[in-house]
Amino acid sequence: IITPPPPVEHLSQADLFIAVKTTGRYHRSRLELLLDTWISRSPQQTYVFTDGDDDWLRKRMGTHLINTNCSAAHSRQALSCKMALEYDTFLIYGKKWFCHVDDDNYLNIGSLLKLLSQYSHTQDIYIGRPSLERPIEATEMLDTKEMKQVHFWFATGGAGFCLSRGLALKMKPWASDGAFMATAEHIRLPDDCTVGYIVEAQLGVSLTRSALFHSHLENLGLVSDIKNQVTLSYGTVESRRNTVNLKGSFSANDDPTRFRSVHCLLYPDTSWCPSL
Ligand code: UDP
Ligand code: MN
Repeated sequence: IITPPPPVEHLSQADLFIAVKTTGRYHRSRLELLLDTWISRSPQQTYVFTDGDDDWLRKRMGTHLINTNCSAAHSRQALSCKMALEYDTFLIYGKKWFCHVDDDNYLNIGSLLKLLSQYSHTQDIYIGRPSLERPIEATEMLDTKEMKQVHFWFATGGAGFCLSRGLALKMKPWASDGAFMATAEHIRLPDDCTVGYIVEAQLGVSLTRSALFHSHLENLGLVSDIKNQVTLSYGTVESRRNTVNLKGSFSANDDPTRFRSVHCLLYPDTSWCPSL
């Protein structure tokens, strides 16, 4: 058993800026579940970045719903357009930490605060789960039309990741006010890779690996100590469900993602959780 180091900085929820990336067609099928579960515990910190108006979601979230007017396509441009706005909004709101998650992530705010407390927001911290076993290789297009190979690690967006304010400020030349989309085009890679490129290849800061972040690219049935993970996810592989494995309060039928059961494990006092 590894004893966690003592906190470096006392953090509270108010120090976090949490961005959730979604798209119009997932408002009902994915976002409602998040609103009912983890977002209900941190509504003030959480902003949803989407691509279309939705009266129902606007009523539930008010100004915490941000319509990016980015295209609703799953293209590199559309996705980096959303990430760019997440980043710009974080800078404006002045919080200590930026955390990104997808709309198929469960975020455990308590675990997240415990993890980030081990660092100072003024340090250069980029933390998440690397999605590959080796660094990604990108081809940079130089102004001279020459090509240059670069290698760097990146945190997979589908598992969520965080950036300290100190580091986010240093990223400005490659990320703020439209620069992020240009950077993504420059290496022709998706939004999460672009973050890694700016942090590692441009700023020389290394990704801090954390095994507490989880995407549906891994076998979620193998995740143990569910209560202490920072993020979880769900998905399907060859028409079989890939979810965390817990007995939980709800059947797989009533709670196919297992997020409601996870939520009741963490917050048993929730009104819709079975009484203790
Ligand atoms: N997404 C988006 N626009 C799209 C499709 C997906 O913003 O056209 C978002 C989606 O809401 C999610 C993330 O991108 O937050 C990843 O999408 P998904 O889970 O469907 O795909 P994955 O890449 O995980 O297979
Ligand atoms: Mn996904």
